[in-house]
Amino acid sequence: MIEFYCSNSEVKDLLEDYWKSDDAYNFIYTQKYLLNKYEFKSTASLEAIVKKNGYGFVNEQKYLCPECKQPHKFFLRKDFKDILKRFSLNCNKCEVKAIEEKIIEAYNFSIGYILDFNKIYNANLNYQYDDDFYDIFERLNYLELVYLYVIIDRNNPNCFGKLGAKNFPLFLHEEFYSDNKVLQSLRKKRLLFYTLGTPTKDYIDFINFSQSFYKNEISVETCNILNEIKGKNLDFFNIILRLQYFNFKSYKALLFKSILEYKFSLNELEDLSVFLKDRRRSEVLFLSDTVEYNTNFKILKDNAIDYKIELLKDTYNLKEIYGYFNSSVNASLYKLDTLNDIQRKYLKNNIYTNIFKSGTEKRVFKKDLPRNYRKSSLLKFIEENYELECVWEDMPVNDFIKKFFNKLQLCGNLSEC
Ligand SMILES: [Zn+2]
Repeated sequence: MIEFYCSNSEVKDLLEDYWKSDDAYNFIYTQKYLLNKYEFKSTASLEAIVKKNGYGFVNEQKYLCPECKQPHKFFLRKDFKDILKRFSLNCNKCEVKAIEEKIIEAYNFSIGYILDFNKIYNANLNYQYDDDFYDIFERLNYLELVYLYVIIDRNNPNCFGKLGAKNFPLFLHEEFYSDNKVLQSLRKKRLLFYTLGTPTKDYIDFINFSQSFYKNEISVETCNILNEIKGKNLDFFNIILRLQYFNFKSYKALLFKSILEYKFSLNELEDLSVFLKDRRRSEVLFLSDTVEYNTNFKILKDNAIDYKIELLKDTYNLKEIYGYFNSSVNASLYKLDTLNDIQRKYLKNNIYTNIFKSGTEKRVFKKDLPRNYRKSSLLKFIEENYELECVWEDMPVNDFIKKFFNKLQLCGNLSEC
């Protein structure tokens, strides 16, 4: 049954008749009957009085808001029909509350990115430098300096530091950006900002939409929090900081000079060596994925596989490692030929993984790297500027490191220890 609340005793009879229903929620009196009985000239004037002086509700479990367990309020018969259709939905109050929680979550996730982007944006476009970037610059390590250099050199930022929306993500992929601690560190130091790999844009869109959609219903507390991002630029793009008093040409020259004059401590050499070995490891995993994509053979990873990859990395160059993957595939195909279809289907990857691990193949052939292999710009820089007389992908990583460090020593880059 529909119950009702009335705030004005003078129209209580009207509201009672208006909301009176049978057990199946059919109204007892027609609107026409009510118009006559209470001498209204139009439905509109009747509804104005009903709406102003109370509301109907159904105090039954299935028509309550599942969140606060309160009945929905309806002010006119047509609202009631809507509620019946959507009875399992949260009431408006609870809906707004849930939205506010999501807004805060989205805000907390995005605020760091928003502030980071705006710091660089304000510096480059409005000459407002909040941080002492020169101080940060002075303390950059070798790899950070080289990355800043190659980003400017290969990506040609415009005078505001904006980096290409298509080219820069490609650059990031080439550098295995999601595992690249140097790029992450540059972002943390607010010298570089990129949007790839973060769902920030979706969060910001959500905040913007909900803020205008629920304009008058959002609590003051939430509004105050959102005021933090008022006036900030939320339209992110990839951007690199331009050092104060520099343009990108002179900044690039400063970076180059700092790189050539860089003095490594022993610990820093160790870090550099770890970085290059990690890079090689990422490349081997990339080759593994490529083989999987091309041949449908998948390495089943375990400790022995990790060990094998380490071993390959130390012993062979990248082309030989690619050759090793491919000869493992061929050996697996050969072995699979002896099995029936069902066995093939279930054993395929196990056989491949075992052959890869055991490495009974004594001779390792070089294979040209797949066409989607892209060389790191950082490595190209090293090859071009230190006259190493060797190429990264043609050397086992340790040999490359040895040559490179010898060169650094010859160039006087190792500090006396
Ligand atoms: Zn509720």
